[in-house]
Amino acid sequence: MAKIQAEYLWLDGYSPTANLRSKTKVLDAPPTSLTDIPEWGFDGSSTRQAEGKSSDCLLKPVAFFNDPIRGSNNILVMCEVLNADGSAHISNTRARLRQVAEKYAAHDAWFGIEQEYVLMQDGRPLGWPSTGYPAPQGDYYTGVGAANVAGRELIEAHTEACLQANLSICGTNAEVMLGQWEFQVGPVGPLAVGDELWVARWLLQRLGEDYDITVNLDAKPIKGDWNGSGAHTNISTAATRAEGGMAVIEAMCEKLGKFHEQHMQVYGANNHERLTGHHETCSIHEFRYGISHRGASIRIPMGTANAGKGYFEDRRPAANMDPYQVVTAVLETICGDGFQP
Ligand code: ADP
Ligand code: MN
Ligand code: MN
Ligand code: MN
Repeated sequence: MAKIQAEYLWLDGYSPTANLRSKTKVLDAPPTSLTDIPEWGFDGSSTRQAEGKSSDCLLKPVAFFNDPIRGSNNILVMCEVLNADGSAHISNTRARLRQVAEKYAAHDAWFGIEQEYVLMQDGRPLGWPSTGYPAPQGDYYTGVGAANVAGRELIEAHTEACLQANLSICGTNAEVMLGQWEFQVGPVGPLAVGDELWVARWLLQRLGEDYDITVNLDAKPIKGDWNGSGAHTNISTAATRAEGGMAVIEAMCEKLGKFHEQHMQVYGANNHERLTGHHETCSIHEFRYGISHRGASIRIPMGTANAGKGYFEDRRPAANMDPYQVVTAVLETICGDGFQP
């Protein structure tokens, strides 16, 4: 069988917001399972993951997907970063989630994440005039027509790529600011939602190269009366999905309120610029939950309230959050004694 290309993806050591990195390894044959994919290494001194003198870091494959860009039998490989001795590298936020997910596996938690982002070109949001501003927000959210949307070709290519990679992408929409978009993944388990979101982000950035468009995940890319970008995190467990789930959700919300500050520490950099109490957000200094309430920290969707069971939405995470850390925080608070960063 022909050799294939495997693109190894990992998170670098940049703080407070890690970047995706990747490089290509040629494998002798397509793998049939994870154990067929060899561990690999990279120079951690170039990614803020090591000092110059002993700079080798280890890449441990943890999930793999069809590579929709290269096609045929080529693959994308999500990796954890390990130290030379095999222990988890300090930048490896997935390692903690692995333990937490196992500890609370019996709760059967599912997550769905809404990734908002802004497409950029020539230093400004796609579709914006070279000087000044476009018409104020209003017509852009879920809009149609050349005056109201920018970048749809890339969004179509990205969605198709996610489907071909077998990611659980479940929808997309144009957002409130011109050039701003959203895709959603889930609902899937705690580790899968993180792996899939990182791979979907990688595909978006990678496809953006072909269009000369960059992807901005800042919490508040444009100051002023323009929407920030969030990563609403939707949550359910076996108990919230079962009869009587609404009472369980309310108890979870009360608990999440007690650990608001701890959660905010891992909900994305510069989130205070976004969580102002305007633009469908709740102030970062407050915690509120409510049915259908888009100005709350946590929204219980109408469908959940009507059915008396289902899922709820944590609206606080910013677009630049690390899903491994956010999911860890949520699990520790709703299933355990509360999250400590
Ligand atoms: P919104 O009305 O907030 O814009 P979206 O339709 O954009 O909602 O996103 C809904 C999200 O909820 C998706 O990411 C989806 O995967 C997730 N979701 C749906 N059902 C569940 C569930 N039972 N548990 C967890 N997440 C869920
Ligand atoms: Mn949404
Ligand atoms: Mn949205
Ligand atoms: Mn939402």
